[in-house]
Amino acid sequence: MAEANNTPYPYEAPVSQGLFDRASVVTPGGVNSPVRAFRAVGGTPRFMVSGTGPYLTDADGREYVDLVCSWGPMILGHSHPEVIAAVQEAVARGTSFGTPGEGEVALAEEIVARIEPVEQVRLVSSGTEATMSAIRLARGFTGRAKVIKFAGCYHGHVDALLAAAGSGVATFGLPDTPGVTGAQAGDTIVLPYNDIEAVRAAFAAHPGEIACVITEASPGNMGVVPPRDGFNAGLKAVCRENGALYISDEVMTGFRTSKAGWFGVDGVAPDLMTFGKVMGGGFPAAAFGGRADVMAHLAPAGPVYQAGTLSGNPIATAAGLAQLRLLDDAAYATVDAVSEQLRTLVSEALTKEGVAHRVQNASNMFSVFFTDGEVRNYDDAKGQESFRFTPFFHSMLEQGVYLPPSAFESWFVSTAHDERAVERIAAALPAAARAAAEATA
Ligand code: PLP
Repeated sequence: MAEANNTPYPYEAPVSQGLFDRASVVTPGGVNSPVRAFRAVGGTPRFMVSGTGPYLTDADGREYVDLVCSWGPMILGHSHPEVIAAVQEAVARGTSFGTPGEGEVALAEEIVARIEPVEQVRLVSSGTEATMSAIRLARGFTGRAKVIKFAGCYHGHVDALLAAAGSGVATFGLPDTPGVTGAQAGDTIVLPYNDIEAVRAAFAAHPGEIACVITEASPGNMGVVPPRDGFNAGLKAVCRENGALYISDEVMTGFRTSKAGWFGVDGVAPDLMTFGKVMGGGFPAAAFGGRADVMAHLAPAGPVYQAGTLSGNPIATAAGLAQLRLLDDAAYATVDAVSEQLRTLVSEALTKEGVAHRVQNASNMFSVFFTDGEVRNYDDAKGQESFRFTPFFHSMLEQGVYLPPSAFESWFVSTAHDERAVERIAAALPAAARAAAEATA
């Protein structure tokens, strides 16, 4: 491995740039998931070659404290020895059988044991698949077509769920991604987040037509915008009154915000839930589950079809199970404490430079908004001075701290973020805060 090369700004990453140039020839935009391309912040996306604990090393040999954690999954840090050992042990036995296996049963049992409303679970390979399948099941179960989602909530790139709000309340979502047809998005109702009256109005406007409400359990995809007190309970109640299902998307919050995810925080039992990220231990594993009477409608038990060649893959399930078994109360206490420490440090640095900001968190998930008002929904989030984020991001990157390359994402920490990692972040913050203060629109 090349020696760490933390050169001062303006900084370059010639090896990453070379890889990005090669990638851009054979892959659209040079990346396999859009936000990795640094389009929102500019500059050269870093191509990572290894990760250990809280650190990532890029192809130029530069080391970073990682505050992305693979967008959530790496809650134990990178290359945790017990997860790696479980993977090595599994891979030595074969990589995919296309038959049932004990690892799948054990992972499903672990999920059911941790999360009370989940009586049965089906394993899939991505969060997108989980939400897509949950919506299909809700439609099949209720015999209804319409789905309510909230502006600013991301549920993967499911056609019907890419619809975002134009404006106003209870509007029908229009496809704002070419390739999503009006028919695919036409049954999606997009509402402002944290607005229970808008939900009631939508149900009143479409009696007997709405199959489900899907919401991030506590949104992290417009930055971290927690539900107001009683919002999730309100969603559940409105769904009950109207014969619709309440689907809580815990792909991001599941097994992260507590042992039982966001359900472990607010205790509101959904009809269906979706999971991903942490439960795969860094491999493609995800799941949806919930009430047994609803899950019974899924093939082969019932008529709603859903399937996957690699669902319950033995390596992915081994990694996920190893990770979940290490996530005890002490692990969550560690992650929560690091998160709190970092939130305080970021806020202190920005305050010192007179930068208007608001740090919002949902247990250990947090993000920094460049505004001093409360952020309750997507419009609030978009109203921040996001131009301050770009220089802030690049200053941190230059100093060896890897943040999500967007002002609208959660920051993630792990049990591996120890004192040394926190000190490196603390040392980087004053210059980054200054850069944010000096930014102009
Ligand atoms: N749901 C939520 C809340 C997410 O945050 C994501 C991904 O970020 C997804 C669904 C989609 O998951 P995946 O990227 O595994 O398809």
